[in-house]
Amino acid sequence: MKDRLSEQGRSLLTRAVHGGEKRPRPANAITTPIFQTATYVFRNTAELVDYMSGNVEREEYGRYGNPTQRVAEQKCAELEGAEDGLAFSSGMAAITTTLLAIVQSGQHVILTDDCYRRTRQFCRTVLGKFGVDVTIVETGNEKAIEEAITPKTRVLISESPTNPYNKIVDLERIAEIGRKHRVLTIIDSTLATPINQSPIAYGIDLVLHSATKFLAGHNDVLGGVILGNASIIEGIRQYQGILGAILDPHAAYLLIRGLKTLPLRVAQHNATAQRIAEMLEAHPRVERVHYAGLPSHPGHEIARRQMRGFGGVVSFELKGDLEAASRVVDAVRIPQIAPSMGGAESLIEQPALMSFFELTTEERLAIGIKDNLIRLSVGLEDPDDLIADLEQALEVA
Ligand SMILES: *Cc1c(COP(=O)(O)O)cnc(C)c1O
Repeated sequence: MKDRLSEQGRSLLTRAVHGGEKRPRPANAITTPIFQTATYVFRNTAELVDYMSGNVEREEYGRYGNPTQRVAEQKCAELEGAEDGLAFSSGMAAITTTLLAIVQSGQHVILTDDCYRRTRQFCRTVLGKFGVDVTIVETGNEKAIEEAITPKTRVLISESPTNPYNKIVDLERIAEIGRKHRVLTIIDSTLATPINQSPIAYGIDLVLHSATKFLAGHNDVLGGVILGNASIIEGIRQYQGILGAILDPHAAYLLIRGLKTLPLRVAQHNATAQRIAEMLEAHPRVERVHYAGLPSHPGHEIARRQMRGFGGVVSFELKGDLEAASRVVDAVRIPQIAPSMGGAESLIEQPALMSFFELTTEERLAIGIKDNLIRLSVGLEDPDDLIADLEQALEVA
């Protein structure tokens, strides 16, 4: 795995800095400008007619795209090894617009469990309302996934690694199942980033990211991207023009800026998270650690095969109950209590109190969310400081 990192490392570093940015830039600027404009002018009617006839490519109106957004999309596509990409105002906008573009009434969607809760909600409530059937299968159980496929199945969506348990799906197997049954495969690769894994290289059709997390990386902007085959992306772009969830030019600039340091940041997230996971696993007050970089993790072997690093999210179960977990969360001094992940600042949360608060303990358990579970999004602080902080919190709590 190390060898693959160094093999790909340099080109990922270079692509992160220069990818998608055409030379020369307007006014000879080194950065890509923020095109803060809602619309684009035509010099005369002849130019308009030329554009409408499809003879020239240019911008028309902000909802159909912006040059800053296009650079962000191309940079993401180059990092992911995708033909094309499309950016949205949030990760959920990317998921919902993509599914509305791809799926129609009477068709069937397969989703793996331990997935982002709003994705599950969208499929169940919104797609359900329009006559799309949804089946939820166990993450990582490829046999169950294949058995769930019917002649109506249009798309199979999974995260890998998943949130919060870092479960791993076998990308090669998923792609193979998709091809065999002519089902489109989508991987939400938010936790992996294009630095740690390349699902398209394994034959996955579309890769999705909440750019809010690691891609932008500074907890200061919302965004999402979908990456893959150019003709599928073009179809989704048409829907974006109707549904309207575009990335605004300033957010696109922040995404481009964040992407330049993505490989460096992810390498640091990976290294610190691994050390923290190992410390926690050896700690007497910790019941279990869910991190794919640990040999004890059920997905470790597959992760070693298909990933270049194991990411910046460490989930762990405390020996104790909800209150014991709350005491630890309240005792840490560096990580702050907040949803989200992937930024410079470490964040900590209890899924039972954050994303799944309105469910009862039993309902949470039914979907695998335990009361003693803590999710730590490892930031870019000094790993020694983070480890010392967690150790003192586990001691006092
Ligand atoms: C955060 C997240 C999303 C949603 O992204 P937003 O940018 O918050 O809309 C989707 N999938 C995963 C895995 C996420 O972590």
